[in-house]
Amino acid sequence: MEKKRVAVIGAGPAGLSLLRAFQSAEEKGAEIPELVCFEKQLECGGLWNFSENTGVDEHGSMYRDLYVNGPKEVNEFVDYSFEEHFGKPVGSYPPRSVLLDYIKGRAKKFKLCERFVRYHTKVKSVTYSEETLKFTVTVRDYSTFDYNEGRLYSEQFDHLVVCTGHFSTPNVPEFKGLKTFKGSLLHAHDLRDVTDFKGKDVLLVGSGYSAEDIACQCYKFGSKSVTITYRSFPTGCSNWPESITEVPLLELVDSNGRTCHFKDGSSKDVDAIILCTGYLHDFPFMPKNLRLVTGHRMWTMGLYEGVVLETEPIVFYLGMQAQYYSFTMFDAQAWFVRDVIMGRLALPSIDEMKAHSEKWRQAEEDALAKRDVKTFQANYLKELIGFTDCPVTPEFVDKTLKMGSDWDKHKELDIMSYRDHPFRSAVTGSFAPKHHTPWMQQCDDSLESYLNLGEPTPKLLRI
Ligand code: FAD
Repeated sequence: MEKKRVAVIGAGPAGLSLLRAFQSAEEKGAEIPELVCFEKQLECGGLWNFSENTGVDEHGSMYRDLYVNGPKEVNEFVDYSFEEHFGKPVGSYPPRSVLLDYIKGRAKKFKLCERFVRYHTKVKSVTYSEETLKFTVTVRDYSTFDYNEGRLYSEQFDHLVVCTGHFSTPNVPEFKGLKTFKGSLLHAHDLRDVTDFKGKDVLLVGSGYSAEDIACQCYKFGSKSVTITYRSFPTGCSNWPESITEVPLLELVDSNGRTCHFKDGSSKDVDAIILCTGYLHDFPFMPKNLRLVTGHRMWTMGLYEGVVLETEPIVFYLGMQAQYYSFTMFDAQAWFVRDVIMGRLALPSIDEMKAHSEKWRQAEEDALAKRDVKTFQANYLKELIGFTDCPVTPEFVDKTLKMGSDWDKHKELDIMSYRDHPFRSAVTGSFAPKHHTPWMQQCDDSLESYLNLGEPTPKLLRI
């Protein structure tokens, strides 16, 4: 019998989790389907790759000097610890470059990319035939042909898993007078270097993680002031330094092109406006009936167990949720999807799947009311791993959940130094060393600087 074929779109952390899930089944003696992972970038690792390019065609929303905003231990791969990768324990809040190296390290150890990924290949469209029960995936391959033209080709698959992330299509709301603003106006998606705003008065629109982190960065790199304007709730941070203030929503940019007026009647002259207004789930390559439609939620309605498209349970989406857990959640999801595809797990009826999602949506609403979404996501992970042999264990989830409450306390204590606190690995038991430089003074985001490579060098990966 011919091997089944699975198309995976995207080789970011979520796509790589899926490849690893299948490869681990193979390691244990199972016969796995043929996997083809299409990745439009030149490397794996998704948005942890940095590019100076900006604009809607650019996938990444990554900026210089981004350090993880939660302890790395929460998202440590259970089958590939940071200590294994770097040859020693490393600090708990590394910069982007260190995370990318680590993600690539697991991919390299399990030979995921060379076996399964076709780089520089962008999925343009997907169709599904009810007659043949096959997906046709049409891609443009920029790797071998004329760089601008690319080679268009199609292949057929039995299963389709979308792992394209949801932090690359900016949500751009309108504000009265915004078009007449005379300073720099950009979405966080296009931010590359906060030092551009040194000495400047900056307005951040939005109060989520992006606004919080960009405010900290602006402060660190010498912006004169930062004003955060929020629609529903402020950031929740109670200890901003004096030069950072929060005000209700922007109502109007004055015709002088500089003065911003807010809902509480206050106003501020600013040099730059950064829209930290979130991202849209956007799957332009998918046909309408197979397209996930959702906002940024902890529970994604329409996806059974957060991954199976309920209306068409032949399509899977990974990593579409708002995230406390990222890499570890992707693993839990990947192992579940793998087992559905391999026929190890049977799906309930569509009505049962929908009822199940309603139950989780209610739990999400309750968690939002209690302001405890971390426990909600931890419970989701526990349910998922109960179905499979995923290496993430309930004990790991409990330990990493506790890290979340310590993280909150550190942030409450001092938003500018919470990244200086070390955590203990739930995988190896090792305590992270206190990093050699406090975050506020660390102005070099390279891997070499973070790892202080004057010492014997751990294995560094450039694949
Ligand atoms: P992505 O990383 O976005 O990867 C998706 C991949 O799909 C990309 O490689 C892309 O090129 C590819 N792709 C997209 N469309 C196509 C197509 N049509 N054809 C082929 N390939 C395609 N998480 C944390 O855990 N800690 C943090 O500190 C943290 N900080 C963040 C900071 C920022 C600024 C942002 C935006 C996100 C941050 N995140 C953080 C969350 C982040 O989303 C996850 O860590 C993770 O990268 C998501 O993985 P993913 O594979 O779902 O998506």
